[in-house]
Amino acid sequence: MALVVQKYGGSSVADADGIKRVARRIAATKRAGHDVVVVVSAMGDTTDDLISLAEQVTPMPPARELDMLLTSGERISMAVLAMAISNLGLQARSFTGSQAGVITDSAHGKARIIDVTPGRIRTALDEGSIAIVAGFQGVSQDTKDITTLGRGGSDTTAVALAAALKADVCEIYTDVDGVYTADPRIVPTARKISRICSEEMLEMAACGAKILMLRCVEYARNYDLPIHVRSSFSQHEGTWVTDSPVPASLSQSAVEDPVEQPIISGVAHDRSEAKITVVGVPDNPGTAAAIFEAVAEAEINIDMIVQNNSVGASGRADISFTLPKAEGATAVAALDKVKAGIGFERVEYDDQIGKVSLIGVGMRSHPGVSARFFKALGAQKINMEMISTSEIRISVVTRADELDDAVRAVHTAFDLDTEAEAVVYGGTGR
Ligand code: ASP
Ligand code: MG
Repeated sequence: MALVVQKYGGSSVADADGIKRVARRIAATKRAGHDVVVVVSAMGDTTDDLISLAEQVTPMPPARELDMLLTSGERISMAVLAMAISNLGLQARSFTGSQAGVITDSAHGKARIIDVTPGRIRTALDEGSIAIVAGFQGVSQDTKDITTLGRGGSDTTAVALAAALKADVCEIYTDVDGVYTADPRIVPTARKISRICSEEMLEMAACGAKILMLRCVEYARNYDLPIHVRSSFSQHEGTWVTDSPVPASLSQSAVEDPVEQPIISGVAHDRSEAKITVVGVPDNPGTAAAIFEAVAEAEINIDMIVQNNSVGASGRADISFTLPKAEGATAVAALDKVKAGIGFERVEYDDQIGKVSLIGVGMRSHPGVSARFFKALGAQKINMEMISTSEIRISVVTRADELDDAVRAVHTAFDLDTEAEAVVYGGTGR
């Protein structure tokens, strides 16, 4: 008997039929003799709908109230799911994040989990119940207000609970059969990865792969918790994210430890970033620091940075960087404030960019990967606006409308295509 944490995303519980289907799956796991904790997201596009409702009454919803509103989405799905399970003759009890012991800091909209005290979940399991927990939410230790963990945060709830309960596996159920070598919505010939190490999965998530939230992968790695990403619409074995051997009792087919890592594990893409260029920066020591200090003080996380000395202009440079689109306006305002003091010419904002990234631990020891990547883009006449690399990743910024072509070109250039078309069972990939 194992302790299994299962997380079902919004597209898996989009309507009553979806909820009944998920309930049957949960019941089957319970009847197989396992203890089951379920983390559930809001039904379908509920979270987006609630955000737009808020925006219809105010352009700037107070963060505390927005969290209160958004957490209601998960309360609906958890209660209805518990009802559907009880209709199958099993006991199920639903819990809000707060009741499940998910304690966070007080950063509304992007709260971080600081502790998980799942006493009530344990009791429910010991009494033979299935525990259903509302994803993506917790309670602030300081203010006692209800918080949310950021979009897609139910994954993190699931992994955090699994770690606190010392579960054997955290199963993340989604609308595709696992982690693919690229988003199958863009590359239908993408291949399912049967097993991926946490280092590569972290890079994929950081580079925009939406299949798993970055923080949930970090969490799982820190606790050496295996994640199994799979579809709630099929019975196929999905993708195991783990650095340890895959637990044989919980996998349908033997997932072998790779003898040699493939050079490339996949291609990720990101449409959520914008680019800021600070034009005509005096080329003196300390100016870049002053610029990024202003951005950091506005609590903005930046990604790529490129500086080029503008040829001809006397002693001036341009500095470009990327950041989340959602923080664009704040960053531009912060820079405008320090413009006179630092003495640069102007700030340009561009939100029509896309980022394509190639990831693989094998890159470390294989030359020629960048050349092949750039050649693939060149052959499609796709211009590269920014480039950044790490030991196991190459990322390139392109025009937003060239991103899909860029992803396909790179995927093909590294022989990642397969014959069988990947199945997308539902949802939008969000
Ligand atoms: N319902 C929330 C969202 O759409 C949390 C989640 O799905 O994980 O972001
Ligand atoms: Mg979601």
